Amino acid sequence: MSNPPNLITQVSKDGQLLNQNNSQPKRGGIFNCLCCCFSRKEEQRSDDYRKDLSLEPIVEGALLPPLGPEHRGKKTLVLDLDETLVHSSFKSIPNPDFIIPVEIEDQVHKVYVLKRPNVDKFMQSMGPYFEIVIFTASLSKYADPVLDLLDIHKVVKWRLFREACSNYKGNYVKDLNKLGRELKSTVIIDNSPSSYLFHPENAVPCESWFDDEADTELEDLIPILKEMSTVDNVRVFLDAHKRDGKMIYR
Ligand SMILES: [Mg+2]
Repeated sequence: MSNPPNLITQVSKDGQLLNQNNSQPKRGGIFNCLCCCFSRKEEQRSDDYRKDLSLEPIVEGALLPPLGPEHRGKKTLVLDLDETLVHSSFKSIPNPDFIIPVEIEDQVHKVYVLKRPNVDKFMQSMGPYFEIVIFTASLSKYADPVLDLLDIHKVVKWRLFREACSNYKGNYVKDLNKLGRELKSTVIIDNSPSSYLFHPENAVPCESWFDDEADTELEDLIPILKEMSTVDNVRVFLDAHKRDGKMIYR
């Protein structure tokens, strides 16, 4: 079965975007998303009050609430979902890691999900070093239950879905400026270069993953990301690495 109503934002094995964004993002969804992030009480706190409590100031209109005390001094690691951490299919596949029932127009579809090799180890390793944000162009009705099952180490702090993406020339772009975090402290890992079109300097390139059991991409990224968590400016760090040929420009 094909991807009903563009539920999942994926690329094909030849790198083509399978479902482009032909409509403006809906506003309702992001409101719902923000509702889970902000409490009304916190919204009402003044910057001065937050300062007294040594809390980060609220950035008006940001997709994320201020960095929590538990993440003070840490950088933000933005992770894509599909073909970066998992690969999902509406076609039955042998030995899926998860099967997610998703109701669309009164019909329940099964989504078969495969986890990328070493994804559990990767997430567990990154948890202590970063504030982790999953930022996916897929719909929450699919991605939310996937993340409930994927985040076994409970390291994902925030989840952002399609509604949080910016529509630019038919692409779902993940505009890091809107997160409410400093760009020098924000890293994005995404298999689709169009996702980080606005901020290639913040991107760690990542190969699309479908089913290769010998894939080591996530495990290979662990040491470089640990090193990155200690630098002053991730953009400078990434630029140097890309110049050295340690990372490939895409
Ligand atoms: Mg992807």
